[in-house]
Amino acid sequence: MPVVNRIAAYADEMKTWRRWMHRNPELGFDLPKTSAFVAERLRDFGVDALHEGIAKTGMVAIIEGRAPGPTIGLRADMDALPIHEASGAEWSSETPGRMHACGHDGHTTMLLGAAKYLAETRNFAGRVACIFQPAEENGGGGVKMVEEGIMDRFGIDRVFGLHCGPHIPMGHFHTRPGPILASADEFRIEVTGRGGHGANSHKAIDPIPALVSILQALSTIPARNRAPAEMLAMSVTQIHAGQAHNIIPEAGWLGGTVRAYDTATQDMVERRMQEIVDGNAAAFGVTARLEYTRDLAATVNDPGETEVAARAARAVAGEAGVDDNVPARNGSEDFGAMLAARPGAFLFLGMGDGPYLHDPKFDFNDDIAPIGASFFATLVEQSQPLA
Ligand SMILES: [Zn+2]
Ligand SMILES: [Zn+2]
Repeated sequence: MPVVNRIAAYADEMKTWRRWMHRNPELGFDLPKTSAFVAERLRDFGVDALHEGIAKTGMVAIIEGRAPGPTIGLRADMDALPIHEASGAEWSSETPGRMHACGHDGHTTMLLGAAKYLAETRNFAGRVACIFQPAEENGGGGVKMVEEGIMDRFGIDRVFGLHCGPHIPMGHFHTRPGPILASADEFRIEVTGRGGHGANSHKAIDPIPALVSILQALSTIPARNRAPAEMLAMSVTQIHAGQAHNIIPEAGWLGGTVRAYDTATQDMVERRMQEIVDGNAAAFGVTARLEYTRDLAATVNDPGETEVAARAARAVAGEAGVDDNVPARNGSEDFGAMLAARPGAFLFLGMGDGPYLHDPKFDFNDDIAPIGASFFATLVEQSQPLA
């Protein structure tokens, strides 16, 4: 695997960073130790500027090249998950009920490795903005960093991210032009009638038949409103009403999740849901309210930037080590918010067989850290070359 030689030379150092982060997992936006650890390394590397406290514990490190040029954003996530670790690794989490089960310790390590190399060599034009974000798993740390203006503030023109893939051969890169991960929306439909005695149903307005009717009608959205080429996954995952056999409840609700690859499909689902809710409210004489929340945008790769990224991946992993037209997946990533703000691409880097993401036995494969760091470094040098 032709990783950048200079980066291969500090593979052991990267391993110590990664394992320190693995032993010290933190959640959401609350990453005081992790962000201090990352900031300390970045200062050591001699980055030109370090902007901390973005989206609470996020940061952006700027590395200037040797000539004027555009700014490339490289992003890593730093947060862990509320899972009790069962990997058995010597460097297991020291905090019960928290662990790095999604490899974000590895993502942060790979970007730190690239930052160290880029700050040392600077064989590129323009500048690099290394983006370290909190709260990828829950809370939309990436969304928040975009809302706090990082793209304009640091003049970021393009942005790239990397996620480890336990299901992919070790050291192989997977990506695709267009949507690679789905949006994640949440909905809740509340139905209110009039409660009463189970024996006197004619005096009550029972919300349960309305809820059941809404539930059935919702299933026609993926079945009847989705165009064949559109991806749409919709699940009602909760339905609640009533608490005793002889009481007609006053109200009830149902809720679930919607996954799609484009905003037109999200718009269609929200509109159809509202129509179904309003129509059923009238038909059953209840009041019904839809709460539709768009948590995460789809992660959509720019076709041109996907090619640029695939070229850098090939330089590191070879022709056979890159598949740049894999099928999209139904999972979600809040990197989608960054790709909605700027063109770029998201890639998976294979770790070889092992427990899947979010599994208590998961552990990042340290052997891929130099490969990921080399990819970031190569991407910068290839796409922003010195004249
Ligand atoms: Zn995850
Ligand atoms: Zn993740």
